[in-house]
Amino acid sequence: MSKGENRTDHLPRSPGVGDDPREHKDTNTPPGKIRFRDLDEAVIEADRCIQCGSCAAACPSDSIGIDEIDGKPTLVKMCTGCSRCWDFCPRSGLRYERVIEETEANREGSTSAYAVRADDDSAREAGQDGGAVTALLAGLLEAGEIDGAVVAREREDEPLRGEAMLATSREELLESGGSIFNQTMQLGEIDRVVGESDLDDPDLALVGTPCVIQGAKALESFGRPGEGSEIALTVALFCTRSFEYDRLTSLLVEHGVEPEAVDHLDVADGKLFAYGESETLLETDVEAFDAAGLPGCEECADFTGRAADIAAGNVASPDDATTFVVRGERGADALDAAASELEIEDLGDDTALRKLAGWNRRKAEETLPREFDPEGDLSIGYEQHRERYDDTDRAPQSHNPARAYQYERWC
Ligand SMILES: Cc1cc2nc3c(=O)[nH]c(=O)nc-3n(C[C@H](O)[C@H](O)[C@H](O)COP(=O)(O)OP(=O)(O)OC[C@H]3O[C@@H](n4cnc5c(N)ncnc54)[C@H](O)[C@@H]3O)c2cc1C
Ligand code: SF4
Ligand code: SF4
Repeated sequence: MSKGENRTDHLPRSPGVGDDPREHKDTNTPPGKIRFRDLDEAVIEADRCIQCGSCAAACPSDSIGIDEIDGKPTLVKMCTGCSRCWDFCPRSGLRYERVIEETEANREGSTSAYAVRADDDSAREAGQDGGAVTALLAGLLEAGEIDGAVVAREREDEPLRGEAMLATSREELLESGGSIFNQTMQLGEIDRVVGESDLDDPDLALVGTPCVIQGAKALESFGRPGEGSEIALTVALFCTRSFEYDRLTSLLVEHGVEPEAVDHLDVADGKLFAYGESETLLETDVEAFDAAGLPGCEECADFTGRAADIAAGNVASPDDATTFVVRGERGADALDAAASELEIEDLGDDTALRKLAGWNRRKAEETLPREFDPEGDLSIGYEQHRERYDDTDRAPQSHNPARAYQYERWC
């Protein structure tokens, strides 16, 4: 008898039934094990997934892929019930604030903030702000400090939709300059993009939103190493929120902007801008796009990507520069190695940066149904999660019936 045949209940279930929230689920799951379907209901179906890709990166059997339609994690083969997708998900089992705290406690060296511009015109033009991240990565490649950088680019088939890519040359870095305002499952894509290249055991820089870097740090410290790839440097992009692709493009259309006409988007000083090749197509308060924000971002208190070796954003520096927060020896060494590509000045007044980081943390503490506890246990159990999230507007939701066949066969 297959696992699927042994089940009687593949239908949507309601949360909070019984003393053990899992007892009504007729599965073979031994006590204490958590399956992908539990993550799906607590995070993805609850519309809390931030598409960081940690679950896919943590899965030892490569059972989690990316759904072609919504870009979210989905089961692609048998789930063994090892619980690791839950354990490394910053919206369920991973207490992300503890990962940040541990990373800071173990880091050697100091933290400094700079206003940075690419030295080279082509990187400045390609970049979102000062082109400094592009130039930093180009300098590290040229110095032989990294073999490639996992970055993001716009997909060819859909305007503004991002996808992870591996850049191994200055040209590829210039192509991928600029910010992508939807998530790419970045961490779960590393093995794929490296596998499609001719690199063997590469030293990589990983660029991502702060939640991606939290997952990378957790995996580096407590989890499965990547298949041969070494993350030599992590770069976080400052972030108060990312957007859900379909909702973002629909709202652009409602504002009279066709996504195909947009060269790039920007979010700065509380405004959202859509730029065409040579004109500003839209300038509006970013609140007008609230409905497109990922609800899971409201639980995030990590604006400055504190787990990253270098974090980059536009706040607090002039319009033509990028603010860099450079942390520890890894960050400082990387900045030194790429210094010939960069114009670097002390940041000076960092009030705006601290204010935004403080606001972001207060918002997360108000939103999180669980306690925000940087000293708390690293892991949050399934029952513990449900105690806090059931009976809130972030409660687990029954899985999409369209996925029932997957769970019948594989979970
Ligand atoms: C979702 C999002 C929200 C942001 N919100 C803020 C904010 O509120 N305040 C603020 O000060 N800054 C914010 N930033 C950062 C800002 O937009 C710039 O990315 C940053 O200033 C670096 O500029 P740059 O010119 O040096 O980078 P560039 O030279 O343009 O290099 C950026 C690099 O990051 C990669 N990249 C871009 N987007 C992604 C992505 N989504 N996932 C993985 N890699 C990516 C690119 O491929 C490129 O390699 C945000 C960025 C993102 C992606
Ligand atoms: S938030 Fe990240 S780890 Fe959690 S389900 Fe979504 S992609 Fe996976
Ligand atoms: S706000 Fe936080 S959770 Fe959302 S994309 Fe940015 S870093 Fe990730």
